[in-house]
Amino acid sequence: MKYGQSSSVHHNVVIIGGGNAGLSVAGRLRRYKVDDVAVIEPREQHLYQPMFSHVAGGTAAPAKATKPQASVMPKGVSWIKARVDGIDPLAQTVSLSSGELVSYSQLIVCPGIQKNWDAVPGLGEAMDSPFGISNYEYEYAQKAWKVLRGVRGGTVVFTQPAGPATCAGAAQKPMYLACDFWRQEGVLNDIRVVLVVPTPSLFGMPMIDAELERKVAEYGIEVRYSRQLVEVDAAEKTIQIAAEGTDGSRETLAYDVLHAVPPQSAPNWLPATDLCVDPDQGGFVDVDSLTLRHPRYSDVWALGDAAASFNSKSGGALRQQTKVLAKNLAAALKGKTLPETYNGYSVCPFVVSRSSVVFAEFDDRYRPMPTIPFWKGLAKERRLTFVADRYVLPWVYWHLILKGRA
Ligand SMILES: Cc1cc2nc3c(=O)[nH]c(=O)nc-3n(C[C@H](O)[C@H](O)[C@H](O)COP(=O)(O)OP(=O)(O)OC[C@H]3O[C@@H](n4cnc5c(N)ncnc54)[C@H](O)[C@@H]3O)c2cc1C
Repeated sequence: MKYGQSSSVHHNVVIIGGGNAGLSVAGRLRRYKVDDVAVIEPREQHLYQPMFSHVAGGTAAPAKATKPQASVMPKGVSWIKARVDGIDPLAQTVSLSSGELVSYSQLIVCPGIQKNWDAVPGLGEAMDSPFGISNYEYEYAQKAWKVLRGVRGGTVVFTQPAGPATCAGAAQKPMYLACDFWRQEGVLNDIRVVLVVPTPSLFGMPMIDAELERKVAEYGIEVRYSRQLVEVDAAEKTIQIAAEGTDGSRETLAYDVLHAVPPQSAPNWLPATDLCVDPDQGGFVDVDSLTLRHPRYSDVWALGDAAASFNSKSGGALRQQTKVLAKNLAAALKGKTLPETYNGYSVCPFVVSRSSVVFAEFDDRYRPMPTIPFWKGLAKERRLTFVADRYVLPWVYWHLILKGRA
């Protein structure tokens, strides 16, 4: 550690956020022999969010989604256990909520996406009631399975928000898991299941939509397309849905259980930093989508859910992004030209039953981008991809991805 005049601590590379992006890029930088890397992360527990869907749908125990942060911090990386509340890119400093400053030579911004439970009137209240659940927060996901497994009749509504979202299709996963469970229990026909999606199709890729539509028909799910949740009355247990931007044509639905995913945005302290795109474009950190470097501050980089890169936000996207960013930053430190470009790859594994997945792999224009070249078969419902999603990828995440090895 060095001590500067305007800040208490200096590090060569400072990473804001020790989630999927922060730890895996830190691990890669250490592998590429970059010294003095620090991660600023306030949470004691690291969360593997893709597992939240399995927790909510009852195909994984809650413990499978979390490990102590200290146990997954890559070797040789300093952990600053603190929350960032500002960045001054001209002074090359990051301010912590404690009032301290950390200065940097290179900065990587990856604090994830913000889940705005207050953005829909009544939603927060509904989530605090016994009938509101979600896979988008660890606590709500644990509650979700307790509630879903007890349902024997009535109406269960699942909602997916409009606007930017992390792994948007994940909103649907607990629904398919629950329907399969209810079918096995012999009660599916007694339950009205309604899905509200903001888009005119279930996902946006014809081959994936066809698979999901087949499952939706199989389970007897009613879909409200091009609609979003605009208001919840937690006391009456009703929601209002409407087409985006319209107030006139609202539909009221009564629910017994509401599984909701909140609107999402850039963390609210980011737009004040001069690093972000306009709020009407989401307010995320401006980056060149190919190099992941900031277009105006060459010592600032961003990746993951907080970056305004063109791709669909997911952990799968990060597997490509961390390699590109780490190699480019290591080259920049040596004064070399940036060697890597990100190809826009992203992924959404739709868990469509308790033993099968439809594995969507696509680029930043939702064109198929299969990992196994020319083989689009993973986009069909398969048991193999369920095993990959539920067992193989979590192992790879904890043991390789977070160490910067995959
Ligand atoms: C329910 C759900 C299911 C998903 N399923 C899949 C899936 O099946 N496949 C897939 O590929 N992706 C999936 N994703 C998406 C994937 O989890 C994210 O894309 C990925 O975690 C993004 O990584 P990140 O590091 O950008 O953000 P995160 O992993 O969210 O990490 C951000 C970190 O920054 C920290 N932080 C926040 N604010 C500050 C601050 N002010 N100062 C310092 N630190 C801060 C947070 O504590 C957190 O640790 C899913 C996401 C959810 C929510």
